[in-house]
This record gives sequence, C-alpha cells and structure tokens, in this order.
Amino acid sequence: MKATLLFPDREIVERYYVPLIYTACRTCYSELEPEEIFRRAVAGEVATEKQQKLIAGVIESGHGSTIEHIVFTFGISGVSRTLSHQLVRHRAGVAFDQQSQRYVKYKGASTMTPASIAEADPALRERYEQQVAGALELYGELVEAGIPGEDARFVFPNATRTNLVMTTNLRALIHMSGLRLCTMAQWEIRRLFQLIRHEVFTVSPFLGSFLAPKCVPLGYCDEMNNRDGHCPIRPHKDVVLAAWSEKARAGRQGGTGGTVAERGPQAR
Ligand SMILES: Cc1cc2nc3c(=O)[nH]c(=O)nc-3n(C[C@H](O)[C@H](O)[C@H](O)COP(=O)(O)OP(=O)(O)OC[C@H]3O[C@@H](n4cnc5c(N)ncnc54)[C@H](O)[C@@H]3O)c2cc1C
Repeated sequence: MKATLLFPDREIVERYYVPLIYTACRTCYSELEPEEIFRRAVAGEVATEKQQKLIAGVIESGHGSTIEHIVFTFGISGVSRTLSHQLVRHRAGVAFDQQSQRYVKYKGASTMTPASIAEADPALRERYEQQVAGALELYGELVEAGIPGEDARFVFPNATRTNLVMTTNLRALIHMSGLRLCTMAQWEIRRLFQLIRHEVFTVSPFLGSFLAPKCVPLGYCDEMNNRDGHCPIRPHKDVVLAAWSEKARAGRQGGTGGTVAERGPQAR
C-alpha cells in the first residue's frame, strides 16, 4: 500500500497554508481587508508562532470553516476494494477518482492477503489463495470470450487491489483521520491513514499534529465497543461521566459548593 502527497509540496505549505488559514481566522475579528492580512502573514510580519496559536485555538473550538480553505491531494495505490469501499463513504469536503474496473482490462489483477489469513493454518491459506486465483482466472477467460470488462469484473473478490486519487480539505481530513486512526477502525484503512498522517507531517508537523484518533481532541472515547476499556488511549465516556457524577454527589453531600460545572447540570 502506498499513500503519496501529490500536492502541495513542502514549500507551498510552509509559505502559504498557515498564512491562508490565519487570514480566514483573522478576517473574522479584524478591520483589515483579507488581502492585507494575507500579505502581512506571508511576508513574515506576523510571527509564525502567533499564527499557529490562533489557528490551534480556532480548531480546538470547532470553528471548522477556517480550515476548509486548504486542500491536500493524495495518490493512493495498492489498496483493496474492501478499503476503497469504506473510504468513499466519506462525502463532505472530499473528492475521489478511482481506477475503473470497466475500462481497465486487467491482465494480471493483483490481490492481497490479510496477515490473519497469511499466518493462518497453511491449508486454509492455500484454499484462500486458490479461490482468489480461480476468480482472476475466470475473469481472464470471460474477457477472452468477449464478455465486457464491466460484467467480467463481477467475479473479482474484495481482495482485488485498486488505485485512487483523493483530494480533501483539512477539516474533512481531520474528521476522517479521527474515525480511521481509531483502534476500532479496520486495520487496512487505519494503516492508510497512518501513511497519510506521515505525509502531512513531512510537509508540516504543525498541521499533521491535528490528525489523530477522535478521542485525542475529545479527551474521552465514545466508541460503544470500547466500554470494556481495552483500548487505553483515552478513558471511555461512561467512566468519565461516572467519575464526574460521583464528584458532584460528593460535593453536594459535603456542602462544599464548587462551580456549576463541578456540581453537575442538576445544580443549576
Ligand atoms: C469503525 C467504523 C465502523 C463502521 N461500520 C459501518 C457499518 O457497519 N456499516 C456502514 O454502512 N457504515 C459503517 N461505517 C461508515 C460510517 O457509518 C460512515 O458512513 C463513514 O464513516 C463516513 O463518515 P461520515 O458519515 O462522518 O461522513 P463524511 O462525509 O466524512 O461527513 C463528515 C461530517 O459531515 C456531516 N455530514 C455529511 N453529510 C451529511 C448529511 N447528508 N447530512 C448531515 N450531515 C452530514 C456529518 O457531521 C459528518 O460526520 C463505519 C465507520 C467506522 C469508522
């Protein structure tokens, strides 16, 4: 599997991306015209740290439109159709183009074997490999017999590899990474987003730092399947809410007062 950042390169990101987001953020609170804010930011008249501080605060506050102004385009290759089906479920702020199984006549369509099957009982693995190879062989025979590719492809397994181009704005990329870097995500798409995060880090450690499992900015895990706490990245929200309510109850019993947030909403 490969994920390559096709556009922009490091120079463009360093020179324009942070100033562009900064301009979007600053325009909301400034008398200056966007053109002048952008000029000052690009010229270095506003320290990069100052720009980054404002941007980080705005992202943490969830004012997401400010980061829709910048986009990243990735070339993604050698992933399974299982992965691509999940990836293209994302709709907002993201565009895809995918290798066509109608127009590409696969001479030797390549497939992949998940590690769990590769490491399974050799007899079972062999049956998997035979099944997949058999499907590809039948595809070749169908095409040879004049069946159109768009119909012959019906025999392709989910293991078939594919290539895509994905362009996404930063807001959508943070959202997708939040879901797909989560340990509950399927291993292959999780691996893809680890590669994507690496690519963004390479051109901007600052922007790359926002690509994280969703529990990291949230501060807790909201996945039903982690109620047993087997993923330790953040405590499950049930645990957090129970601790919060216990603290509020103890505060009420002790008559210590505290803030409304500490006492809980029923104290209002
Ligand atoms: C661990 C995991 C397991 C999954 N399991 C399944 C499964 O079993 N079956 C299945 O079908 N899918 C499954 N999915 C896919 C999931 O349901 C979503 O379709 C997918 O993650 C796309 O995310 P999104 O809905 O946030 O869409 P995006 O397009 O990424 O949208 C981003 C955000 O924009 C907003 N938005 C986008 N479109 C609309 C709209 N039309 N109306 C209102 N708001 C909108 C929402 O706030 C949304 O969160 C799974 C996903 C994950 C991460």
